[in-house]
Amino acid sequence: MAKPKISWIGLGHMGTPMASNLLKAGFDIAVYNRSVEKLKPLTDAGAKPYVSLDDVRDNSNVIFTMLSDDSAVSSVYADLLKDSVSEKLFINMSTISSELTKRLAAEIESKGGYYLEAPVSGSVKPAIDGTLIILAAGREPDYEFATTYFEKLGKLSLYLGEVGQGAKAKLAINYYMSVVIEGLAETVLFAEKNGIDKETMMFIVNESACGSPMSKMKTPSIIQDNYPAAFPLKHMDKDIRLAKAEGLNTETSNAMKNIYQDAMEANLGDNDLMAVIKTVKSKYFE
Ligand code: NAP
Repeated sequence: MAKPKISWIGLGHMGTPMASNLLKAGFDIAVYNRSVEKLKPLTDAGAKPYVSLDDVRDNSNVIFTMLSDDSAVSSVYADLLKDSVSEKLFINMSTISSELTKRLAAEIESKGGYYLEAPVSGSVKPAIDGTLIILAAGREPDYEFATTYFEKLGKLSLYLGEVGQGAKAKLAINYYMSVVIEGLAETVLFAEKNGIDKETMMFIVNESACGSPMSKMKTPSIIQDNYPAAFPLKHMDKDIRLAKAEGLNTETSNAMKNIYQDAMEANLGDNDLMAVIKTVKSKYFE
């Protein structure tokens, strides 16, 4: 490949700190976001702004995407693939269905380009700290090439084989997180109903074998009953639906689908996923 000309598409909760880390590491990058006001923190830090996807495609040969869901990724790639992508590498770090990621890989490869999927485990704090876990799949030489960047974005990157395996691993770990968070919500509410306050219960959880980085991270939110988004609940709702579409069909996964969906209907989608506690409370503890 010619000298890398890197662009980053998608400056949301995750894309902004991740693109910033590439900049801080000394990579020359350009940035694009649908809502242009989100470009400023990056351009202030030295990134070149692009205001159209045509500019991104025509002036880059390494293109990262960090977008919300299948619909966003489909729409952005439809524009990117309108013209030649020969010899360009697309590194898609969004969490999307394995069906879409495979379709994109096939389409890009048929046009002479390359596609690597690389969804991440870890939320905003690990994105800021550069300690994400990167679940990559696609052609191995593309993975080897991308490790230069992954080293600045994560504490660990794994090569999982053919495209689709990264998406599936990501859905599996997020499903586990959906259960942990919902279980934590029930535990705290059950304890509270029996006269054990939230502070005491979270102290017990965190000191026990069940204490985890996740329970510790969510403790301040639970105690203050305030859920600013680190991992927006709407993305968990999406990921459970994707996992079920991938064949996960158990009583627990049905229950997770229903409770996160109820939380979406209660307009909690833009809150952190821990806000599911509000829905659990109103359904079962009031
Ligand atoms: P986010 O804050 O909601 O940002 C979404 C990004 O997608 C924004 O840049 C948004 O642009 C763009 N977008 C949405 N629809 C679009 C469309 N139709 N056309 C063009 N751009 C569009 O999401 P995030 O939290 O950064 O998450 C990004 C991805 O990482 C998701 O797949 C999520 O599941 C995954 N993930 C998130 C976390 C987390 O903790 N947040 C952790 C691991 C993985 P605008 O600014 O214009 O809306």
